Amino acid sequence: MYNQSEFGNLETYLLEKKYSKKTSCGQPPDIYIFTGTVGFKKHSFESVSVILINTFNEKILGIISKIFLLLCITGAFVTTINFLNSETADWLYIVGMVASLIPLIISLCMQKVLEYHKDTFCEKCGNKLACEEVGEPVMKETSNFSGYTLTVTRHWKCRYCGNVDTREGPENIFADKGEMLPAVYLKGIECSKCSGLSTVVEFKKPDIKEIGNKRTTRRYYKCTLCGYEDINESEETISRSTHAG
Ligand SMILES: [Zn+2]
Ligand SMILES: [Zn+2]
Repeated sequence: MYNQSEFGNLETYLLEKKYSKKTSCGQPPDIYIFTGTVGFKKHSFESVSVILINTFNEKILGIISKIFLLLCITGAFVTTINFLNSETADWLYIVGMVASLIPLIISLCMQKVLEYHKDTFCEKCGNKLACEEVGEPVMKETSNFSGYTLTVTRHWKCRYCGNVDTREGPENIFADKGEMLPAVYLKGIECSKCSGLSTVVEFKKPDIKEIGNKRTTRRYYKCTLCGYEDINESEETISRSTHAG
């Protein structure tokens, strides 16, 4: 187990209120920060990754990934050239497409293996497959009028030297600004403070994040009568067809 004191700062961080607004020297508040916990990182192809990492070093794994990507590009190029030649049989296109798709899949899998290597590598003692995730990972979302960013902070502990490495990154989580609702949708919203009707406006573009098959939309409402701000989060399940890539 990890040393509790190592995570002292993290605990205070988590105890801070989940949502904070930053104001700088009399300027109107425009930065909204949200913090929350997330689950441990899930790695795909874990057993294959362990075998490959034990067999090859990082450099060779990177080269393998690049070779397969090159094979994919070559395959796609050759298929396109043949496509322009009308005498080519149909089955050759299928063979060509499969021949370029397989290396692409392998290349993407190799990227996952490299990510697993990076996560489990100990920078301090240089051992590979040494680190495992400990503590509580924290997701931090920063939203202002023009942008929305999301980062995850995780702690990796080496089982050989005991070093705990804290790493922060976006983790390929989709996070972007969405579009504001048309005014007509806001007419029916009642202000939860002054009960005013048709007084609520959306004062900035919503934040949209996608984790797994869940899309969360956070909208910012403000009452023009009493000035009450209401932040609303809604969740929806994304079907696979609309969430390609
Ligand atoms: Zn170590
Ligand atoms: Zn109000």
